[in-house]
Amino acid sequence: MALWLKDPLAILAENAERGVVVEGARIVELVAKGAEPATVIDEIFEAGRHVMLPGLVNTHHHFYQTLTRAHPDAINKELFAWLKTFYPVWARLRPEDLAVATRLALTELLMSGVTTTSYHHYLFPDGLDDAVDIQVAEARRTGLRMTVTRGSMNLSVKDGGLPPDSVVQDEDAILADCERAIARHHERGEGAMVQIALAPCSPFSVTRELMRATARLAETHDCRLHTHLAETRDEDAFCRQMFGMSPLDYLEDTGWLTARSWLAHGIHFSDSDIERLGRHGVGICHCPTSNMLLASGRCRTCELEAAGVAVGLGVDGAASNDSSNLMEGVRHALLVNRLTYGTKVTHLDALRWATSGSARCLGRNDIGVISMGKQADLALFDLDELRFSGAGDPLAALILCGAHRADRVMVAGKWKVTAGMPVGVDLEWLKAEHGTAARRLVMLD
Ligand code: ZN
Repeated sequence: MALWLKDPLAILAENAERGVVVEGARIVELVAKGAEPATVIDEIFEAGRHVMLPGLVNTHHHFYQTLTRAHPDAINKELFAWLKTFYPVWARLRPEDLAVATRLALTELLMSGVTTTSYHHYLFPDGLDDAVDIQVAEARRTGLRMTVTRGSMNLSVKDGGLPPDSVVQDEDAILADCERAIARHHERGEGAMVQIALAPCSPFSVTRELMRATARLAETHDCRLHTHLAETRDEDAFCRQMFGMSPLDYLEDTGWLTARSWLAHGIHFSDSDIERLGRHGVGICHCPTSNMLLASGRCRTCELEAAGVAVGLGVDGAASNDSSNLMEGVRHALLVNRLTYGTKVTHLDALRWATSGSARCLGRNDIGVISMGKQADLALFDLDELRFSGAGDPLAALILCGAHRADRVMVAGKWKVTAGMPVGVDLEWLKAEHGTAARRLVMLD
């Protein structure tokens, strides 16, 4: 079946003014201005109301945190105080809570135009040993592509770290589950729907030995590495006191300064740090909403890109965002970077970070752009709301007027959102179940 998405209002692609042809899971043809498709067309979707983007790619998130959004004890705190407030709450997370939180976050992401997401789960209290399997099952059910990053914490307060004992595991258990998760779930090659990456949480919650062992494991199994780094000045001070070096020197010391790694936040880097990151091919996930909310600082996106670093975008959170809407994140990226760089940063830069830049962070070359042979992952937005009325440039309008909900989303050639609604998801049921789980988790305090 060849489907022609015909004559879009605008499209983020070169030489595709008349749209794209999708066959199976891939884009097989771009139709240029004044041309007709060379492919024999079976079906036409009239896209004249739609602005067409590559499906957005979210490179950092913590789905379970959707259960603790806008928590009154945490809303006006910076990262370390915010985390200390939440650790005891999150320690009560049960498998059924994680399942419903994951389903809700995936649905939110999908409705905002996301077709691929990563998920950093680093919380393994007693009873939550199957966290990776729960997330993979929900991703397959919802139909997004997902890089599940098997997170970990093993440095608790008693050893000089930040989290309490109740949420950390020992190194052997962590490494064994990483290997199990890779063997069971990691898909390789073009079109992969589920991939596993390894993701010790942060310098202040993981030992140096676990960082090193994880890097070796990623090398053995040829998978990617992810962690939080250079998010706050507190973290910088922690690294200098605990390890006697800067966060980036610590990264190098533990074997992580490699093209396998992408880092969440990446704010507090010096000029020479940035040059080293570029030289070694490390990716940075810029999380503008979270960075503004937690007052963490401004990512040096332009210097990083100029040094050759892949810059992607992430929502982070969802207790530090507190939504899972990457289109909002694109707008926030534009606005916060305007404060740093002035008008040389445009909506096209922010869109590039959320698509091809994010795909590079995840080590994928089959998604993130609309071009021949790439996966048919597409987000279509209409401009029918009041907020768009009177807009001139349709692509710019998406970001400047604040698009936040896709009208249609396609993943691997299949529609997953139609008429603004996720296919096969009962939103009322999902809200009720998620709300019940959130109240139980929080009200025990
Ligand atoms: Zn995070």
